Amino acid sequence: MAKKVAVSACLSGKNCRYNGEPKGNPELIEKLEKEGCEIVYFCPEDTCFGTPREAMDLTVTDEGVKALTKFTKTDRTGPIADYACEFFDKHKEIDLFIGKARSPSCGVATGKLYDEEGNLISEKEAGIMAAEAKARGIDAVDDEEVE
Ligand code: SF4
Repeated sequence: MAKKVAVSACLSGKNCRYNGEPKGNPELIEKLEKEGCEIVYFCPEDTCFGTPREAMDLTVTDEGVKALTKFTKTDRTGPIADYACEFFDKHKEIDLFIGKARSPSCGVATGKLYDEEGNLISEKEAGIMAAEAKARGIDAVDDEEVE
């Protein structure tokens, strides 16, 4: 049976990033297609907030790690987490999750984490959707780490 791989939609070249600019990973997509993988794309941010949109950062707050918009500090965590749960509930047979490196939603082990004063605390965090994938025991990797 074909390996089922969930992939950040922006890696396909789709203009769904916060600024609407493409940043695909054509080598990765080509490799997955050559291997006969079934690719299921996802983009929590475009679905929940549209494009373009205000960029977000993972931020430590009194209530834990939240995805806050950079300037207006709007908490975007809930809709992204809900999207992730719905996605994984719908696609139960995912063999591998490939997230866009450094994304506060999709990055697997490369997300930047800040304190509320804007100081960088870590560059090895999971984004909100990637964290849900990991919590469900799904193998997960940043796109730049796929060999
Ligand atoms: S990194 Fe994730 S949320 Fe951001 S544009 Fe890509 S798929 Fe969408």
